Amino acid sequence: MVLIMVANRPEPKGLPMKLLLHACCGPCSLEPVRMLLAEGHSLTIYYANSNIYPATEYDHRLQTLLDWARAEGIAVVEGAYEPDRWEASAGAVGEALRKRSQAAEGGGATDAQNIAETNAPTETAAHHVPSPDARTEPRCRACYRLRFQEAARYAVDHGFDGLATTLSVSPYQHTSAIEEELSRAAQQAGIAAVFEDFRPFYPAATERSQALGMYRQNYCGCRFSLDEMQTQRQERKRQRDRERARHQAETAEERAREAERTAARKAERAAYDAKQARKRAILKELRGQAPGDRD
Ligand code: SF4
Repeated sequence: MVLIMVANRPEPKGLPMKLLLHACCGPCSLEPVRMLLAEGHSLTIYYANSNIYPATEYDHRLQTLLDWARAEGIAVVEGAYEPDRWEASAGAVGEALRKRSQAAEGGGATDAQNIAETNAPTETAAHHVPSPDARTEPRCRACYRLRFQEAARYAVDHGFDGLATTLSVSPYQHTSAIEEELSRAAQQAGIAAVFEDFRPFYPAATERSQALGMYRQNYCGCRFSLDEMQTQRQERKRQRDRERARHQAETAEERAREAERTAARKAERAAYDAKQARKRAILKELRGQAPGDRD
């Protein structure tokens, strides 16, 4: 087994090989495919993602990938979609973590709430990209393991020399665990693990996928990550509401003073207008009198 470890670009890579690229979706495939092709590898994409929930989301991501890959002339193979297998491995780990988290919190906050609060953007770092929460690592590791093992089996059965993944483009993933699990799966299958840390290219992948009008999901894939995303969204809304309320309270006095100034200006204007109206009425009356009447 050959392990090719590459930190960042541009650097000379290992020998070009017939590579099976495990891909989670279309947007995450853009930059890894571009770079692996530039390195001379011959690529086939393997979509093995039993983690994705619900099935409609799985289909949507697959279709987005297929549409793009067809236009690029890259072969895509769909693996088995077996959510039950995922539930029996990563899902079970996720449930155990959730129970432990709830027990630690005295049954108060849910795991998703805890993770969401940890990852919620702060006032000073509104555009901060959160690191993956360490508490999800065992679940995600089991998820990577299942998918990479399936991909490695396919790679061996179909004469591929190595296995790579697009997962390492996302800063939201556990990069070290991805590298370790890719290496483990490839080693067990007797093929090369081609791991590259594609995270520096995440902004480019985001821009390109937006420019291409690709469907871009807003959660990793499993039901836990869907919960976490929704909880994070609710937490961000609560935070915005709190900030709005605080701003309203802080500016209440100034707004009251401004309202008083506006009312005073209006009253002044109304008094001026009334005075002008009286003047015009007097002039009109004077003009209306006959000349002989004036003396
Ligand atoms: S968050 Fe993503 S990597 Fe982690 S278990 Fe869920 S689908 Fe898998």
